[in-house]
Amino acid sequence: MDKTQAPVWVIADQIDCRILSVSFQLIGRARKLADELETSVEAVLLGDNVREQTQQLVAAGADTVYLANSPELYFYQPELYTEIIVKLAQKQQPQIMMLGSTSMGRELAPLVAARLKTGLTAHCIDLVLDKDRILEQKIPAYGGLLSIICPEKRPQMATIASGVFPKPEMDAERTGEVVELEVPIDVPRRIETLEVVREEPKGVPLESAPIIVAGGAGAGDPDGWQQIADLANTLNAALGCTRPAVDEGWADLETMIGQSGKMVSPECYIGVGLSGELQHMVGIVGSQIMIAINNDAKSPVFEKVDFGIVDDGREFVPVLIEKIKKYQEKKVTC
Ligand SMILES: Cc1cc2nc3c(=O)[nH]c(=O)nc-3n(C[C@H](O)[C@H](O)[C@H](O)COP(=O)(O)OP(=O)(O)OC[C@H]3O[C@@H](n4cnc5c(N)ncnc54)[C@H](O)[C@@H]3O)c2cc1C
Repeated sequence: MDKTQAPVWVIADQIDCRILSVSFQLIGRARKLADELETSVEAVLLGDNVREQTQQLVAAGADTVYLANSPELYFYQPELYTEIIVKLAQKQQPQIMMLGSTSMGRELAPLVAARLKTGLTAHCIDLVLDKDRILEQKIPAYGGLLSIICPEKRPQMATIASGVFPKPEMDAERTGEVVELEVPIDVPRRIETLEVVREEPKGVPLESAPIIVAGGAGAGDPDGWQQIADLANTLNAALGCTRPAVDEGWADLETMIGQSGKMVSPECYIGVGLSGELQHMVGIVGSQIMIAINNDAKSPVFEKVDFGIVDDGREFVPVLIEKIKKYQEKKVTC
């Protein structure tokens, strides 16, 4: 098959038979790329009892859905999923393969890329075609945007977080082909997912929060972090963070915002003790109002936000909390 005619693939991600939003977003972008390349969009769906869900992938823009449907696939199984996708990719020769930066995609993408002996760009924030119809996989780096290309090997592989691309309009009338795959039974497995234990998310979810307070390295220590958490609580806001807050153990990875974390679009974002590094800031581009509190007047974060407060967060945040509480009490009394 001519490389330029090879399909654009999306590996769909489902949990408990529900296709994740990121899969639809990726099909939307795959559709755009495939139209430019004059080729088709193909989705791959692995799971149990997910036959009906193939129509949703078609409605989002897939022309073909490869379906592996078996109780063996109810939970994500790294080696089995890899085997099915690799075998299919070797046969169908997609030119592009996109996966969500989800728990599954982050692990599955490198496993598949290694077996197919191709390149992989993690946590892309844009995907476009260059003049030679090669995929430019854009990531933030060196204070700007870097394009990574994979000119020789195929497929060109990328993972992309939820929220990077919009969800396409779903067209329930769209028709597509569903191709059922045989599920191999003899794949040697060293790892098996037996059960998934889900933790109840704490506090307001980042993805839907109208207000987000995010803390960074400038919190200094657990007490400083607690102040930032209290500010979020007072505003009934979701609490987000930068990478160092995760590394320090103050915050969970699930609350990290940015290139390798969550993409958010609140009405109001307040960043405390963070420097405005691009890897974090790409995650908040959808915010309507951005405010930063930083003790360094020269911090680059102030060039990127709408309002800046130059002060020591350890002193400013408790005062701000008191003021907000007084304002809230006054509002209730009125
Ligand atoms: C491939 C890759 C992916 C990455 N993905 C992400 C990602 O998804 N999300 C992410 O966040 N990071 C990510 N990073 C890390 C990112 O590059 C930065 O290192 C990180 O965002 C910096 O976090 P920070 O602003 O909290 O820390 P710093 O850059 O150290 O900034 C701390 C700020 O706090 C201020 N400060 C210090 N004390 C106080 C005080 N008392 N009061 C007020 N302000 C104070 C300082 O002036 C400074 O500006 C990634 C990096 C790489 C290489």
